Amino acid sequence: MKVIEPPNLIDFPYTKAFFTGKFPPGKDIPEIVSGECGISKDSIYLPVQRHTAITYVLETGYDPVVADAVITRRRKVLLGILVADCVPVLLYDGVKMVAGAVHAGWRGTAGGILKGTVRVMEERFGCSAADILAAIGPSIRGCCYEVGRDVSTAIQEATGRGDYFSQRGDKYLVDLATANKIQAVNAGIPRENIWQAGECTFCNPDEFHSYRYTKGTAGRQGGFIGIW
Ligand SMILES: [Zn+2]
Repeated sequence: MKVIEPPNLIDFPYTKAFFTGKFPPGKDIPEIVSGECGISKDSIYLPVQRHTAITYVLETGYDPVVADAVITRRRKVLLGILVADCVPVLLYDGVKMVAGAVHAGWRGTAGGILKGTVRVMEERFGCSAADILAAIGPSIRGCCYEVGRDVSTAIQEATGRGDYFSQRGDKYLVDLATANKIQAVNAGIPRENIWQAGECTFCNPDEFHSYRYTKGTAGRQGGFIGIW
């Protein structure tokens, strides 16, 4: 399985952070991740993703909760989110020792889920956005993500100005990854703290699942982070 280690998150002795390529369809994902990195399957936490803008603060236990972002200060818990075109974002504050994983599809992006998660990190754990490092994994990009006017407008209202959309006829092309990078900067994360993967999932269907490429039948890849 392909593993992409975001260069800005791997130089910390206590963090584990990586994005994956395709998980084989139908297999138990925590089991694959466990085998890949030697972490107990029981220490992997995946929220129940529903394209919300909800950030869950994982404090005790491992009960699955509906949320599309999860943050924790707990040690030895690997947070994960699963995607197939949507944007996976990993967050790490090495001062307050807080980790986070965010799933930002168009609905989450329009709901400002990344900005909201940074805010929860500040309010709950006293993080300063200036200390937060962010890594944005492979997702569908502006070359391939065609949306209607309503979706484009919703994303623009949450994101503001920036070079992340263009028009082709009556369709709009949106780069969700760059929209999230702008939301991160607007939330106060320094530009130099953000790493962004280059790949477009739709352009690389051999390496990544793409919901659009397979017209809805895709498996998933993921983003994972934890503090040990
Ligand atoms: Zn593309």
